[in-house]
Amino acid sequence: MKTSTLLERAREVLPGGVNSAARAFVGLEIDPIIVERGEGGTIFDVEGNAYIDFCQSWGALILGHSHPYIIEKVIETLRCGTSFGISTELECEIAEKIVEHYPSIEKGRFVSSGTEAVMTAIRLARAFRNRKKIITFKGCYHGHSDAMLANKSAGVFEENTLTLQYNDAAELEEVMQKNGEEIAAVIIEPIAANMGVVPASRDFLKLLRDLTLRYGALLIFDEVITGYRVGLSGAQGLYGISPDLTTLGKIVGGGLPAAFVGGRKKILDQLKPLGKVFQAGTLSGNPVAMRAGLETLKICEKEGFYECLEKTSKAFVHNIEGFSRVGSMMTLFFDVQNPRNFDEVNQMNRPRFNEFFRYLLKRGIYIPPSPYEAWFLSTAHSDKELDYTKKVIENFLN
Ligand SMILES: *Cc1c(COP(=O)(O)O)cnc(C)c1O
Repeated sequence: MKTSTLLERAREVLPGGVNSAARAFVGLEIDPIIVERGEGGTIFDVEGNAYIDFCQSWGALILGHSHPYIIEKVIETLRCGTSFGISTELECEIAEKIVEHYPSIEKGRFVSSGTEAVMTAIRLARAFRNRKKIITFKGCYHGHSDAMLANKSAGVFEENTLTLQYNDAAELEEVMQKNGEEIAAVIIEPIAANMGVVPASRDFLKLLRDLTLRYGALLIFDEVITGYRVGLSGAQGLYGISPDLTTLGKIVGGGLPAAFVGGRKKILDQLKPLGKVFQAGTLSGNPVAMRAGLETLKICEKEGFYECLEKTSKAFVHNIEGFSRVGSMMTLFFDVQNPRNFDEVNQMNRPRFNEFFRYLLKRGIYIPPSPYEAWFLSTAHSDKELDYTKKVIENFLN
């Protein structure tokens, strides 16, 4: 009752009733839930229903909802003021940590969203190479700046973005041969998580590194999801491949709005005030977000943190067919086995996903409301929650 009233109100003043398109349960044939609070692995809606949450703010919450220690630290920081628009010590402290964790990052700048981080990375690459063209891959998501939405949204007139098939070495080679010298940058999710979880092959990423070096294009790893998710040094650490620029977000803000663009000193020093590339932000490096991010990273640094998440995640998907998983991010694909690109992903059984989503929701389990998304495990999910979820999934599949 409360939900339908709230939805009606929201739809009057917010397009579609939401502030981000994916929240509207598009194509699922049911109304979205409206959340009131979260605790650990669970969220509660405005009607008091509990759902075990595998969205975890789209991967931003690796420690689960309202982690007591993070909340305590955030409140401590809040009491000193919420924003200054002047530098604080916290910004430096968290940047030092990132530089320590990511060998490819010598310097970087904090912004408030992944979208901004990518937008700045693209601008830096274009300025550094004095070239216009950008290569992206089908099925990857890099936020909603114009260059990243070429041919995907009304109101976008970008003409310098080429979109290739993920994991397709032959096509990449051909396009680089033809256009390599005009390409400012190639941007990729080294483990794609926005068409469901689809890892790049090591050979493909290696080829990408070789070709970008050969033609003088910059390689940008968009690790907004994978950074601090698949390990302390992200996907680049797992693959042992160094990009020129890296974008981080989600976990780096510990559940508050923060993101980061980092890379080689020579590229980053083009930013004003040192260089000629403009970039700014009223709330960039916001102290409350910096505190949440910093304390989250400190917990991630603890011995065995990722090993433990890996063990839990591995046990969670064990014996269930159809999961594509890297660490604590995973997608259950229906009627497609380990897809390698967006076209293969699209062979999935969409009606079956919709049925699955509603089946889980009815039983108190919330997964991201689209088959093109990754589910996320947090350290706060209890064995009981995971065992229960597993049983419900198995019941559905049988
Ligand atoms: C979420 C995401 C973004 C955009 O981040 P926002 O904070 O939502 O703007 C960019 N790239 C990737 C890989 C993402 O998953």
